Amino acid sequence: MREIGHFVNGSRVSGGPGGRFGEVFDPNTGAVQAHVALGDVALVETAVQSAAKAQRAWAEVNPQRRARVMFEFKRLVEARMDELAALLSAEHGKVIADSRGDVQRGLEVIEFACGIPHALKGEYTEGAGPGIDVYSMRQPLGVCAGITPFNFPAMIPMWMFGIAIACGNSFILKPSEKDPSVPLRLGELMLEAGAPAGVLNVVQGDKAVVDALLTHPLVRAVSFVGSSDIAHYVYRTGAAHGKRVQAMGGAKNHGVILPDADLDQATKDILGAAYGSAGERCMALPVVAPVGERTAAALRERLLDGIAGLKVGISTDPDAQYGPVVTAAHKARVESYIAQGVAEGAELVVDGRNFALQGYEKGFFLGPTLFDHVRPDMTTYQEEIFGPVLQIVRADSFEAALNLASDHPYGNGVAIYTRNGKAARDFASRVEVGMVGINVPIPVPVAYHTFGGWKRSAFGDTNQHGMEGVKFYTKVKTVTARWPEGEVEDSAFVIPTMA
Ligand code: NAD
Repeated sequence: MREIGHFVNGSRVSGGPGGRFGEVFDPNTGAVQAHVALGDVALVETAVQSAAKAQRAWAEVNPQRRARVMFEFKRLVEARMDELAALLSAEHGKVIADSRGDVQRGLEVIEFACGIPHALKGEYTEGAGPGIDVYSMRQPLGVCAGITPFNFPAMIPMWMFGIAIACGNSFILKPSEKDPSVPLRLGELMLEAGAPAGVLNVVQGDKAVVDALLTHPLVRAVSFVGSSDIAHYVYRTGAAHGKRVQAMGGAKNHGVILPDADLDQATKDILGAAYGSAGERCMALPVVAPVGERTAAALRERLLDGIAGLKVGISTDPDAQYGPVVTAAHKARVESYIAQGVAEGAELVVDGRNFALQGYEKGFFLGPTLFDHVRPDMTTYQEEIFGPVLQIVRADSFEAALNLASDHPYGNGVAIYTRNGKAARDFASRVEVGMVGINVPIPVPVAYHTFGGWKRSAFGDTNQHGMEGVKFYTKVKTVTARWPEGEVEDSAFVIPTMA
């Protein structure tokens, strides 16, 4: 059986005899396709020491030369797009076109990182006092770590290490153990692109590796993306050990449909955003809130037509809109939420359970599921399902729909569909959610803006990528300088002011 190992100090490291291993499935067939080595405290120690040594030299490389490594990395990843997308689909289960999008969205952050020298420039005030100049500089933190989820195994690692490394840090990536191959390849490609050994290390593993990173004194910052309970744990534990932490969590994004919306467009967008990637996106739209009974009835009819035309297939099927979910355990979890929705009294309009694909009966497939008359007090509404399940929650007014999104414990993304600019503006201004789409179903901001949710969708106060990412991975030093001439001045015993 193939073994997926680590990448430490510029070399592949295998799990070794006596090591722990996890299973990596082929979601299309349900078979185990590889074993991933699960690292331990000793391996984290080796990785941290190599990252610390590499970082001291890397920080001395001038920002433009560091950026050139990112340019070369982008070129190498683009040249291997087909290979990476195939590898990603084979372990995750998303269709190839979607895997290409996963890699491409990551590369867009690398493109931003190519321009980071501009963002690292400090500020300067000439003559802040008599003969006094003040300037500030952004310096790297040292060794940084990233812990990533299964659902974007290319994009999310690049969100993190792309910015961290361009800023002069070294990085230890702990990818999801469910689809570890692409992150491993990215580590190798960074070396090939010119990042010295130890600047990017990939340590595979589970909680043991995460805990070792969270408590290691040389790890200065931890960036996490995953489910909310783990995000909160990572935030608390990292902060208790004196680290800078940004921890993005789960989501339950709402699509609000006002009566004046272009319903045909909204329906198409919702179908893609709810069922694309089998609903395994933190920016999916698993809740739709039509305003008014007429809007709800018209939308439901269109959704039913759309669902009837959806094609679920294996991840290499070019005609499939989405593929299997990532593991059997995840499939069972989604199915149990569907059963719970029925028990709670929601109307199960389309049931995606018992979906079977001929020749792939053991694959982790789920058909599209649609619930109507879902109420806010239902557990299945409050919690993240993370599967191809769309819930209609009928709202009787604009205010009620706005409150649904604002009052939900998660606050990652939200979308509003309307032709009314004033209503859209009001909604965007007042809604308690971090990323808003106006007639845009998945409002993932472009790389030079910044990504992050509110409430239980994010712990910590800096977002991913854009200038927020640069701020997260650098610390500011401010210098006040004076070059006196002539006589020695008297000691001052009061605080100097500009009065
Ligand atoms: P997960 O929380 O199970 O795992 C995320 C990472 O944490 C993995 O690397 C995993 O190995 C590690 N981990 C798991 N259990 C741990 C524990 N007990 N202690 C320490 N580390 C642990 O998440 P997942 O299933 O891989 O990914 C799906 C989740 O990620 C969803 O909730 C989704 O909404 C969320 N997500 C959020 C964003 C965002 O930006 N807000 C983006 C993508 C995914």
